[in-house]
Formats: sequence, structure tokens, C-alpha cells
Amino acid sequence: MLTIIRERLRQGHRTGKYPKVEPIMPERFRGLPQLAQNLTPQSCADAVASCPFTALSSNGGKLQLDLGRCLFCADCPAAADHAALAFSNDYRLATSRREDMFLDDNVYHVAGMLNKSMRKLFGRSLKLRQVSAGGCNACEADLNVLSTLVFDLARFGIQFVASPRHADGIMVTGPVTENMKSALLDTYAAIPEPKLVIASGACAIAGGPYCNSPEAHQGIGDLLPVDLYIPGCPPHPYTALDGLLRMLGRIE
Ligand code: SF4
Repeated sequence: MLTIIRERLRQGHRTGKYPKVEPIMPERFRGLPQLAQNLTPQSCADAVASCPFTALSSNGGKLQLDLGRCLFCADCPAAADHAALAFSNDYRLATSRREDMFLDDNVYHVAGMLNKSMRKLFGRSLKLRQVSAGGCNACEADLNVLSTLVFDLARFGIQFVASPRHADGIMVTGPVTENMKSALLDTYAAIPEPKLVIASGACAIAGGPYCNSPEAHQGIGDLLPVDLYIPGCPPHPYTALDGLLRMLGRIE
């Protein structure tokens, strides 16, 4: 018994101090991309061609990035003859609107808070049903991490629950394969009103690497009304936590 107590004292308190203290992101973390400005038309075209997932486009000769499609693979800086895009370590990527995910002037609008009545309902207690709609398990694994002692999602009153009947919302990962479509829609229908929809990861937002597959939908945008988009492949747990807390008005 004494050994256990001594060990607990030695380990101390492991839960991170976020959001009171900003997290220190790992050196290799790829956060909010910064686009090179003043590219020549040829460099811009080279950069667009270098992205295998059509996340880059040219908007009037200016490079534009769809953050919802970006897999943060870093192929574009390597393929283009100069750095068209560089990654910052800013983990605050979650947004409320799909159109806010198109980045061309390096000004990014992070998620806003729900309206007052929804915040009153869910601000201190939010139960979510997670549905993996054809995901590869990377997004799902990092959502699991949110419930571990470092992030301790439950201290904010947010928990994943087993039944949609007990849930206030749905958190979807994966591109929504045809086989998972009806299960996803049935789960959504089983959640009582009012309810929230969260798209976590590039696949759930825009189909990810499967966006052109006839067996997969282009994420959940055409199927469900989305309240929060969390970009990444997979999103870092701090990106997901930041988005959830912003949506609930717990941080600004
Ligand atoms: S990081 Fe990858 S997915 Fe994102 S724009 Fe570059 S090549 Fe495309």
C-alpha cells in the first residue's frame, strides 16, 4: 500500500493545465498552414499540381488552400520548387462554417460559440455519440486520447456515450462510406432534439483521400447540418478540445 501511495506521489498530477496554460506542441506538429504570398503564376500552378488531394487551387493567380481537404502531408512544399506553404504550430483550426476553411490571405476564423439557448443547454454538460463512418481509426484513436488523464475531457462536462438516446450530439469521423450512410443517419435520427453535429478530420469534412471514390460520400456536409468542423488528418487532441470549448463558449 505504501509503495502505491509513494508511486502516486512521485507521479504527481498529470492532467494538462489547458486552457489556463497554452499547450506546448511537439516540434514536428503541423498546425495552421501559412501560404506564400506573391507567387508567380507558374509557381502557383506548380503548387496546385503538387497536391494529390486537390486541397490547393489558384484564386485569381493567388494560392488558396481548402483546410478541410488538406491532409497536412507536406507534399506540396517538397514538390513545388520553393515553399508555397509552411506549417505553423498553431493548433487552433476548428471552425463553425465550411466557407471559413478556404484560406488565401492567412487570416483564419476560428470556431464561434453556439447561440445563448444552446450554450445554456450544453455549455456545462455535453454528451456525444461518436460514429466512425468508414474512418481509418486515426481520428477515432485521437478522440479516444481526449478521455485519458492528460486531456481529461470529462472535467469540462464533455463525454462520449454509448447510446444516441443519451447523446446531445454526434461526432463523425470518416468519409461516410456507402455502407455506413444509413447507420449514420439512423444514429443521428435517434438523438433527441436539439442536437449538435461535429465533423472531425479531413475525411468527415470533405472525403479526405477517398473524396473521388464512388463508394464514399464527400464527408457529412451534404448529409447533416454541421455545427463544428475540426480539420486535420487526424486532428490533434488539442485541436479538437479547442474547437469544442470554443463552440460551448468556454474559451474565446
Ligand atoms: S499538405 Fe498535402 S494535402 Fe495539404 S495542400 Fe499540401 S500536398 Fe495538399
